[in-house]
Amino acid sequence: MRKKLSRNIESLVVTDINSKGMGVAKDTSGAVYFIKETIPGDVVNINVYKKRRGYFEAQPTVFLKKSPHRVTPPCTHFGLCGGCKWQHFEYAQQLKFKEAGVLRNLQKIGKVNPEETLPIMAAPDAYWYRNKLEFSFSTNRWLTPAEVESKEEHVRLGLGFHKPGRWDKIVSIDTCHLQIEPSNKIRNALRDFAIEEQIPFFDLQQQRGLLRTLMIRNTQAGDFMVLLQFFETKPKEQEKVLTFLKNEFPEITSLLYCINSKANDTIYDQEINLFAGKDHLIETMGTLKFKITSKSFYQTNPKQAYALYELVKSFAVLEGNEIVYDLYSGTGTIALFLAALCKKIVGVESIPEAVEDAKYNAQINQIKNATFEVGDMRHIFDETFIEKHGKPDLIVADPPRDGMHEKVIHQIIALQAPKLIYVSCNSATQARDLEKLSCIYNVEISQAVDLFPQTSHVENVVLLRRK
Ligand code: SAH
Repeated sequence: MRKKLSRNIESLVVTDINSKGMGVAKDTSGAVYFIKETIPGDVVNINVYKKRRGYFEAQPTVFLKKSPHRVTPPCTHFGLCGGCKWQHFEYAQQLKFKEAGVLRNLQKIGKVNPEETLPIMAAPDAYWYRNKLEFSFSTNRWLTPAEVESKEEHVRLGLGFHKPGRWDKIVSIDTCHLQIEPSNKIRNALRDFAIEEQIPFFDLQQQRGLLRTLMIRNTQAGDFMVLLQFFETKPKEQEKVLTFLKNEFPEITSLLYCINSKANDTIYDQEINLFAGKDHLIETMGTLKFKITSKSFYQTNPKQAYALYELVKSFAVLEGNEIVYDLYSGTGTIALFLAALCKKIVGVESIPEAVEDAKYNAQINQIKNATFEVGDMRHIFDETFIEKHGKPDLIVADPPRDGMHEKVIHQIIALQAPKLIYVSCNSATQARDLEKLSCIYNVEISQAVDLFPQTSHVENVVLLRRK
C-alpha cells in the first residue's frame, strides 16, 4: 500500500517517536504522520510524500520550534546505519517514552492495570553495552549522500552493517558506539589489512569473494572472541588474515573461522574451526560462570541482564522449598540464577544446543537442582511433564517476541501456580497474554527494564499472583 503524493501541512506538534526514530504527530482529523528527523517536542511544517496503511510519511520543511530533548548523535553513521535509531533523543526521554509505551500496551491491548508500576530501570551504560556484533564484508558498500555528491571515485570495499531493508548493501563502519574496544580497532585493522593485501571481499550479488562476515563477542572482563567467515577454502589467504589478527590483538582469546559457501551467511549450521586460543569465552554474572561458544545465545547487554535477573529474583521471593519452572529457558541463565534459592528448578527450551549449554553451565557452577528439557513448549508442556516434575509454586516465563502460544497459556491456567513472573521483550504480545491469564491472576507489579538504549526496544517484567 504505497502512494506517492506531495502535500504540505503547517504547524504540527510531534508527540511520539516510532521504532525507526521518526517523530509521530496527529492532525486535527486524527490522521497520523511519521516525520523524518523529528522527535517529541518539535513543532514543524511538513511535506507529506507517501501514504501507507494507517499513516502518512513526511519530512519537515520548517522547524517552528525545536524540541529541548534533541541531542547530537555521537555516531557518525547515524541515519545511514540500521541500529541505534533514537540517538538524537535524550536518554532520559527515551526511558519516559518506553515506560509510557509499555503501560499503554498493558492497558489498551491487555485491558489490565497493574496494582503497582515501578519506574523503568535505566541501563547503566547508554552506549558501549553490547557484547556481540556481526559485520559483513562487501565489494559494493553504501555511499553516504556526501560521497555521492562529491562525484569522486571511492573505495567500494567495506565492512559493516546491512543498510536497513537492503540485503545487498553494507554501510561500512568506522566507529560503532555499542561494543567496547578493541572491537572497532579489530574491525578496522582487518578491513585495512585485507584491502592492502588484496584479499577479496565478498560480492553479495555475485556470491563470490573470500571474506564474508566477522563476528566479535566479548566478556565484561575484556576477553574477545573473533569468528571470521570465509566463502571458500583458500588456505594461504585464510592463514594470512587470521595470523594478522592473532599477532595484532592479544585481547582475542578465542580466534575461530568457518567456511560457508551457502547462499545465506548464518553460521548456525556451520562447522566452526579453532585457529588460536580457546573455542569459548567464560562470562561471569554475580557468582555464576557461563560458557559462551560461537553459537551460544547469551543476553547481549550483560550488565543490564544481570539487573533483569535480580529483579526476577526479587519478585520471586523464594524460601527454599519451592518447585520452580523456567519456561523458554535459553541457556538457563534465569534457572541457574534462582537455583540456589529453591528446592528444584526445571528449564524448558526448544533449541538443543542451548539446553546443552544450560546443562554444562549448571555443572561448572556445581548446581545440582536444575534440570533442563528440550522441546517445543506447545508439545512438551503437558500432563506427563507436570507429573514428572511436580506442580510448580512459581512459574517464570521469558518467551520470544511472539509471546506464548494459546496452548501454553491454557496449561498455565490449568496449573494454577500461586505466582507467575512474565518477562517479555514485546509488551504488546505480553499484554495480549496477560488478558487471557487475568481469569486466574492479578497483575500485581509491572516494571520495564531498558536493555537496549538508543533503540525502541524494552523488556517488561510482570508479577502475577493467583486470585
Ligand atoms: N530466558 C533466557 C532466554 C529467553 S529468549 C535468557 O534470559 O537468556 C526466549 C527463548 O525461548 C529462546 O531461547 C528460544 O529459543 C526459546 N523458544 C522460542 N520458542 C520456543 C518454544 N515454542 N518452545 C520452547 N522454547 C522456545
